[in-house]
Amino acid sequence: MRKVGVIGAGLMGTGIAQTVAQAGMDVVLADIDVAIADKARARIAGMLEKLVEKGKLGADDADAAVGRIATAGDYSGMADAQLIIEAATEREDIKRQIFASVGEVLGADAILASNTSSIPITRMAAASPDPARFIGIHFFNPVPVMKLVEVIPGLATSPGTVERVRAFAEKIGKTVVHAGDEPAFVVNRILCPMLNEAIFVLGQGTGSVLDIDQGCKLGLNHPMGPLELSDFVGLDTLLEIMKVLHETTGEDKYRPAPLLRKYVEAGWTGRKSGRGFYDYSGEKPVPTR
Ligand code: NAD
Repeated sequence: MRKVGVIGAGLMGTGIAQTVAQAGMDVVLADIDVAIADKARARIAGMLEKLVEKGKLGADDADAAVGRIATAGDYSGMADAQLIIEAATEREDIKRQIFASVGEVLGADAILASNTSSIPITRMAAASPDPARFIGIHFFNPVPVMKLVEVIPGLATSPGTVERVRAFAEKIGKTVVHAGDEPAFVVNRILCPMLNEAIFVLGQGTGSVLDIDQGCKLGLNHPMGPLELSDFVGLDTLLEIMKVLHETTGEDKYRPAPLLRKYVEAGWTGRKSGRGFYDYSGEKPVPTR
């Protein structure tokens, strides 16, 4: 692969674009407005500058990586990309609209992948330009740091598509695990119910934010507490994942915690909005409950 399109310049799209550019491929990073993609590119430049300051990256390599990222407010610049990765908001209606627009530019041999955390791939493939060339590539946050990529073929995904995506993931330095096309795949199927449960525990007053996070860090040897991690993932994204799990399986054990819904309704979506279970407006995050 020489050129990759990335759709959605939020938390994940930004990390994916940085990682792909650092691996030497050209990237077109698009969002609904080019200004959002421009801001993401500036954030990437800032991250790489920090790596240069720490002596972890050469200044020339940093400049070259940023230079490989073009930004856009539409997908016309992706017509000659071998791979397009959709990393937009975790809502199936939004993703379906994107796939319809991508159909107008997707090259004859190019692959369309979704970075969805939970939505079934086979179902979305049916709305894509060619289900044989549609696949799930699930990255982890922060993408430049986290080594894992889950690869999820849909029912109609061709073996050639799986192989090309595996080779791409390895080229950008990731380790691949294969996951079946069940809602939330492997890692989020295990993680997200745990995060949701921590929010139930908080909502029921069984423990404070600090009790829960310190308890899990020290008692389970987790590097981050579940509420801190929920803020990091984005509470809106977590809620959408729990809704997909709940609605797709029909199992009540996946019902979203009422407090999670309330926080999202309040616009408290975690780190990205400045407030979630912690307040991020000061120098250090402060627990809110
Ligand atoms: P985010 O809210 O940070 O970013 C989403 C971006 O998509 C926004 O910039 C938004 O403007 C853009 N967008 C919305 N509609 C669009 C459209 N029609 N065209 C182009 N761009 C559009 O969300 P995120 O955390 O980056 O999540 C993106 C995807 O990655 C979701 O599917 C999510 O489930 C998945 N994911 C998230 C995480 C995580 O930890 N947050 C981890 C793995 C996968």
